[in-house]
Amino acid sequence: MTTSHAVVIGSGIGGLTAATALHRCGWQVTVLERAASLEPAGAGISLAPNSQRALDVIGLGDAVRSLAAWHGDGGMRTPAGRWLARTSSAAAAERFGGPLVLLHRSALVDLLRSGLPDAALHTGTPAELVGPGRAGGRRAVVRTSSGDIEADLVIGADGIGSTVRATLFPRHPGPRYSGFTTWRVVSPGVGHPFSSHETWGRGALWGSHPMKDGRIYAYAAATA
Ligand SMILES: Cc1cc2nc3c(=O)[nH]c(=O)nc-3n(C[C@H](O)[C@H](O)[C@H](O)COP(=O)(O)OP(=O)(O)OC[C@H]3O[C@@H](n4cnc5c(N)ncnc54)[C@H](O)[C@@H]3O)c2cc1C
Repeated sequence: MTTSHAVVIGSGIGGLTAATALHRCGWQVTVLERAASLEPAGAGISLAPNSQRALDVIGLGDAVRSLAAWHGDGGMRTPAGRWLARTSSAAAAERFGGPLVLLHRSALVDLLRSGLPDAALHTGTPAELVGPGRAGGRRAVVRTSSGDIEADLVIGADGIGSTVRATLFPRHPGPRYSGFTTWRVVSPGVGHPFSSHETWGRGALWGSHPMKDGRIYAYAAATA
């Protein structure tokens, strides 16, 4: 039996998750990433119970939860501090099957990458989908500066400005800027516990979430 070959374009969270899932199912996987390396990037990331279930399927859910702060208690406040909506751990477990969990984005990327053979990941390799192969007509062709790769399956996980999407859906208008800009930071802790929360004002919001190691993941967003 020949092993099916999948090419994943993009090694963000989506691409690495898809690649790990296919690898676990016995596919030969090649991940092509245009960035020179998977340097730690970003700040915190909250994972809802449904995304944790996806990570459970690829065998990484428990590892993610063990690295993360669990945010069952928390909610949204007004700028004056009044709670607009509040959730408890018990309510989160009953309604959603568990809490949000929060970890550093680079810890999640490292974990996802650890499920793949080293040889599967090719950084510094921009790629584009160029169409069906010549041989049988059904294999796709991905073009890189080192040559073309034929594959049984191509996963376009190349992010918000996806060129795979532009190739497959040329009439798609692409993303449109909503006018909402976000700034994110991981900062040292404040020395006392607090509940994970967002504060919603007019055209602006602020979020502060404790991380497992005592630091704080915070963000501001505004129509700007
Ligand atoms: C400020 C902010 C906060 C967020 N917070 C959360 C959160 O708390 N929880 C949550 O679930 N989601 C959150 N999200 C959304 C989440 O980050 C995205 O949905 C997720 O990162 C998308 O992953 P992806 O793999 O699809 O794309 P990306 O992470 O964008 O990865 C795409 C990859 O493809 C590569 N690439 C692009 N073009 C090519 C090419 N031609 N060839 C090869 N490689 C290419 C890029 O270099 C990149 O590495 C947040 C988003 C933002 C902006």
